[in-house]
Amino acid sequence: MAVKGMYFLECGTLTVDKSLITYKQGLGEPIDIPVVSVLIETDDGYILFDTGLDPDGLETPEKTWGMKSKVVKSFGKENDIRSQLEKVGVKTDDILYVVNSHFHWDHTGGNRLFEKSTILVQKSEYRFAYYPDSFVSNIYIKHQFDHELNYQLIEGDYEVVDGVYITTSFGHTPGHQSLIVHLPNECAVLVGDAVYSKENIEKNIPPGNTWSLPNAVESLNKLLHIAKRNKGKLYITHDPNFWIDYKSVPYCYK
Ligand SMILES: [Zn+2]
Repeated sequence: MAVKGMYFLECGTLTVDKSLITYKQGLGEPIDIPVVSVLIETDDGYILFDTGLDPDGLETPEKTWGMKSKVVKSFGKENDIRSQLEKVGVKTDDILYVVNSHFHWDHTGGNRLFEKSTILVQKSEYRFAYYPDSFVSNIYIKHQFDHELNYQLIEGDYEVVDGVYITTSFGHTPGHQSLIVHLPNECAVLVGDAVYSKENIEKNIPPGNTWSLPNAVESLNKLLHIAKRNKGKLYITHDPNFWIDYKSVPYCYK
C-alpha cells in the first residue's frame, strides 16, 4: 500500500487584495491567485484535496457565488473539477476520499458532486461553517457544503491511507487542516490556506485572511517543521507564482 503520484488541478483564478495574502502589507494592491485542487493516486484509491469553485457559477455567477463572484477573475468549463479529473480519466465516483482543508467557498464548490466519497473534515470546521463569526461569515457559502454527503468529522491528526496524513493547521479558520503526502520520491506538504505565498515564509508575515493570527503563525511554523523533519517541501497552491513553478494535470508528481 503506497502513494503512486499526485496531480495539480487548475480550478480557476481569483483577484484579491494583496493584504489578504500578507497581513497588512500591500493594502489596495490587487493580486491574482490560482485556485488549485490536488488529486492523489494511491494503491487504495484516489484522494482529492479540496473541490474548487462551484461549477454552477459558470452560468449563474451571482446566484452561485454571491458577493464572491466579483473576485472570480477566470473560471471556464475546463476549470470545473470534473473536467480536470477527466484529464487523467478519473470520474467523481472514483474518488474514495475527499479531504476538505476547510469549508471556505473556493475549497468546497464541487463537494456535492462527490456522493460516493467519504469527505473528511475537522469537526471544529464543520460546526463553525454553519454559524461562522460575523467578521468571516461571507467566506462560507452554505449551499455548497450543506448536502446529504458522507461527511466524516475528525478531531485532530488522522491517517487517511498509508502514506497520506491529515495534520491540523488552525488559524486561517478554526478547523483548517493540511495534508502530508509521502510520494515515492519526496514528502509533499499540501498546506491549503495555512500558507498563502512564499512571502509568508521568506518575510515571516502571516497570511492576512485569518480567523486567528496567533494560531496561524503557530500552524505556519508547524508545517515548516513537518517538511524539514521529512526532508520534504511545502506546496503553496494559492501562491501567485504557483503555475510558474509547477505543472498541472496530466503531469504527475512522484
Ligand atoms: Zn480559505
